[in-house]
Amino acid sequence: MSAKPKLSTKPEQFTESVIREMTRLALQYDAVNLSQGFPDFPAPEEIKRAAQEAIAADVNQYAITWGSKALRDAIAANFLRTQGMEVDPEREITVCCGATEAMIASHMAIINPGDEVIVFEPFYENYGPDAILSGATPRFVKLHAPDWTFDPNELAAAFGPKTKAIILNTPNNPTGKVFERREMEAIRDLCDRWNAFAITDEIYEHMLYDGARHISMAAIDGMRERTITINALSKTYSVTGWRVGWAIAPPEVTSSIRKVHDFLTVGAAAPLQAAGAAALQFPDSYYEKLAADYLARRDRLLGILTRAGFHCFKPRGAYYIMTDISAFGFPDDVEFAKYLVKEIGVAAVPGSSFYRDREGGRTHLRFTFCKTEKTFQAAEDRLSRLNPSRLRPIGTVSSRAKSRPPFWAGRGARDLLFLLRIQIERLQVLRHRHRPVKFRRNRSVKRIQRLRLAVYQKRPLRRCLKTGEPPKQFAAARVCR
Ligand code: PLP
Repeated sequence: MSAKPKLSTKPEQFTESVIREMTRLALQYDAVNLSQGFPDFPAPEEIKRAAQEAIAADVNQYAITWGSKALRDAIAANFLRTQGMEVDPEREITVCCGATEAMIASHMAIINPGDEVIVFEPFYENYGPDAILSGATPRFVKLHAPDWTFDPNELAAAFGPKTKAIILNTPNNPTGKVFERREMEAIRDLCDRWNAFAITDEIYEHMLYDGARHISMAAIDGMRERTITINALSKTYSVTGWRVGWAIAPPEVTSSIRKVHDFLTVGAAAPLQAAGAAALQFPDSYYEKLAADYLARRDRLLGILTRAGFHCFKPRGAYYIMTDISAFGFPDDVEFAKYLVKEIGVAAVPGSSFYRDREGGRTHLRFTFCKTEKTFQAAEDRLSRLNPSRLRPIGTVSSRAKSRPPFWAGRGARDLLFLLRIQIERLQVLRHRHRPVKFRRNRSVKRIQRLRLAVYQKRPLRRCLKTGEPPKQFAAARVCR
């Protein structure tokens, strides 16, 4: 047999999107999906009507590759209105297939072999792969809880002669941080010193709470010439599936981005660009209502999560809540996220997916609140079954259990034989379900816990052996009786 052709080593350096994987699990387990950031309520009537009218009017062929004139004009007018900055729609705007394409096209337009890109972590999970796919080496700088700010010395140490760009996302996913002027000026000074670009993802610019103000990096003194500003229709108009976004950059940079974009995708959907041009002209009242509605949703989810035992980091922008899950005692955010989706019926994103060094996110879980009251109510009902005082870490024994005599004490031979049998049956069930028995830390204590569960829960185990149902008590072995 001939050897197989070799695959690229670049995709080996990152995993598939964990966020989208959580959505797939939510569907599989019929869970309430608070993982992926897409609204489950309708888009505004006006934007939908504009799209329908565009299709009816036969706006069906390729738009100009860097974006229809109407949309670029509307983007320029919008930037003037929100940031007071004039940009030339003919030379400084490229319309792409979502912020996602605008981001990778911008990377490819500026990166050369050996370049480095600075990424704050926790990060929106695309940024690492964007750097790698474009041939740059990502360098990560931590945002520290609880207010998710960076240490200026750590940031300064990450910059150097190889730094080509820093990626900034404000308002921030996943933390909800809104960067302040002094932080942006500190970044500006470093970009200036090391002659680097700033690529700023401003897709949540209108979702701001508690008096937070969004400042565009391009509007900071001295940054206009070295900033690529990325935005999209996706979040502001609740149309994440339309895939229309853009990059605003100085003319020379734009001409490089346009070439990359042309050969990546040719262009974004023409009728949806027409609808975008209409949406960008919505009155101020649209954005005020959007922010007010999201504020109410944020507070609703904060209440639900806090009552369920999560420690929440209150976001000042975007539509996510980062939480601390230490109270639940799980050793691992991924384990907890799987437990939540399978046993409780709520999907969230494990914090480690926002960190290169996965340990950094082990105690976090991210929830989104771009959801309807019906979804919140369902999540609240399900999360009420989650009680931190009833959960404990793997490998530890509750104080009640500690005061109990060992499981074998006072048991006759019949009981012990039963225990052995049930243990064999359990292994058969697990094998039948292709679930390898994994022993993690402190194997002996965990094993004893399982055996004890097996003895005390004879009936349910027998029933599930009969019906072939999964033996739930093993999946939820951390729940104290
Ligand atoms: N940037 C950030 C920070 C996001 O959170 C998301 C989506 O969740 C995107 C970009 C993706 O934007 P788009 O759907 O326009 O590609």
